[in-house]
Amino acid sequence: MQLMPDDLDPGIGMTSRRTRDRLILRLKEAGITAPEVLEAIRGLPRHLFVDEALASRAYEDSALPIGHGQTISQPYTVARMTEALLEHARPDTVLEIGTGSGFQTAVLASLVRRVYSVERVQELLERAQSRLRSMKKRNIRFRHGDGAQGWREYAPYQGIMVTAAPRGVPRALAEQLAPGGVMVLPMGDGTKQMLVRLTRLERGFAHEVLETVSFVPLLNGIS
Ligand code: SAH
Repeated sequence: MQLMPDDLDPGIGMTSRRTRDRLILRLKEAGITAPEVLEAIRGLPRHLFVDEALASRAYEDSALPIGHGQTISQPYTVARMTEALLEHARPDTVLEIGTGSGFQTAVLASLVRRVYSVERVQELLERAQSRLRSMKKRNIRFRHGDGAQGWREYAPYQGIMVTAAPRGVPRALAEQLAPGGVMVLPMGDGTKQMLVRLTRLERGFAHEVLETVSFVPLLNGIS
């Protein structure tokens, strides 16, 4: 077997190629098939998106706390939502609501031309922004605001991804979706929600329920 440089460094064992490969294998077993999505996730250092104390768990397929009562999404969910967003066409511009740790943002930024990401908690936004800056991801614009309002300035978007659960589709987001564009969002008000994909048609929207997911709620206002 050929040794990769990071396999030779015992200090960063948790970030080694093998550790990441195991996560990718687990995602494939769970049903993720889009190679570009798997490669985007394989290429990202998820341990840098969580506190150091949790870094050793960063390549497990689980959600982890990031402070402010929020979580970095489970890798499977990130992969599934990204796959659903890109399935029929690759959007040029994507609006993401709920930057959180910035991990999903980074996955999207690896796959599309430009990502616009809105977060209501200033501190989370600043941390995500500095992380992604140090990873040299330059095709992302951030905004501190209430994502339920979308981001009118750059609308319409070919893709919209919402990573906190509203009860229904926020009207502003539906309006900011380009014709032919796709929005992926969790919807519902319990601890479990439906993962829904909306496609904007010439008139109205097509709507598919993909599976059950568990997200924090989309909250009003900023913090
Ligand atoms: N994709 C993120 C998920 C973070 S959890 C990750 O994997 O790290 C959901 C995020 O949505 C939290 O950071 C929360 O603060 C944010 N959020 C909740 N309601 C929001 C709103 N109305 N507008 C913008 N962000 C919101």
